[in-house]
Amino acid sequence: MNSAKKRMLSGMQPTGMPHLGNLEGAIANWVRYQNEYESFLFIADWHSLTTLYGDTGQIKQNIREVALDVLAAGLDPGKCAFFVQSDVKEHAELHLLLSMITPISWLERVPTFKEKQENVLGGEQASYGLMGYPVLMSADILIYKADVVPVGRDQLPHLELCREIGRRFNNHYGGVFPECEGLMTSIPAMPGLDGRKLSKSYGNAIYIADDEDTTWQKVRSMFTDPVKMRKDDPGHPEGCAVCAMLGIYQPDSDEELQRECRAGHMGCMQCKKKLAELLNERLKPIREKRAELLDNMDYVSGVLAEGAEKAGAAAEETMKEVRSAMNMKKRTVR
Ligand code: SF4
Repeated sequence: MNSAKKRMLSGMQPTGMPHLGNLEGAIANWVRYQNEYESFLFIADWHSLTTLYGDTGQIKQNIREVALDVLAAGLDPGKCAFFVQSDVKEHAELHLLLSMITPISWLERVPTFKEKQENVLGGEQASYGLMGYPVLMSADILIYKADVVPVGRDQLPHLELCREIGRRFNNHYGGVFPECEGLMTSIPAMPGLDGRKLSKSYGNAIYIADDEDTTWQKVRSMFTDPVKMRKDDPGHPEGCAVCAMLGIYQPDSDEELQRECRAGHMGCMQCKKKLAELLNERLKPIREKRAELLDNMDYVSGVLAEGAEKAGAAAEETMKEVRSAMNMKKRTVR
């Protein structure tokens, strides 16, 4: 870990098999930024409990899938700390301390709270933990004194809340926490196979671990323009999931594709074949690396253990300052 670099913090919930949206929206950025920033990258298993607390049977397996896909996609564990959130207990300690100083009204106004309330599994009630999600996220960021956090536009309110919590702490107990900035990343709007929002719960995703044939079968079944029955029917590429995905994987040809579609010079099967080809090209090296890693799960566990050690050391440094600033007892046992 190179301390001359700015620090970046980012997490990903283990809510299922990682899909193309996770790959292009998060994992690709982790890999891209690993040389530029001193990166702390974690699998956010505690965060996943905020909506999946009623069904924890898959968490261990999901952690494994995320770890495999992230490493297969090219993350170099020698250049970062890649770990599981619950392996670094300091996150929980800081979360608790920050929850003592965070006004409830700040959490009630977080726009994603309502949306997440609806995602709680099996009609269970939204919990205290779900409401405190932004406080846990603030603890994740502040414990590493992160300079930057990659965010999409919808996460900006969380980041602002993190800054407010950090400021409030600093005002009460003295300046411990710096202010982090959002690193606005290009997060492509990956559509679901059926044209709806991409969601694991809709079962409308292509997973990183899917093989070539599964990818083709999924692409074949994708939603296109329902009124375009034949190749020479003029099509409506807007709202076509295949067109939206081709725009991500072949952006230079997007305009031409839309023109050809509208003019009735392009058939949906032609588009689907092109898309499957592009996806399989993108996923081939990841699948190969994934298969190698699957044969060496001790290595994957070792990476996460080493990552937790690196992250734990940095987190404990901050917690010493926090405990001292708050006049809390020094830690005497692990
Ligand atoms: S021709 Fe291509 S862009 Fe047009 S509707 Fe069909 S799949 Fe979509």
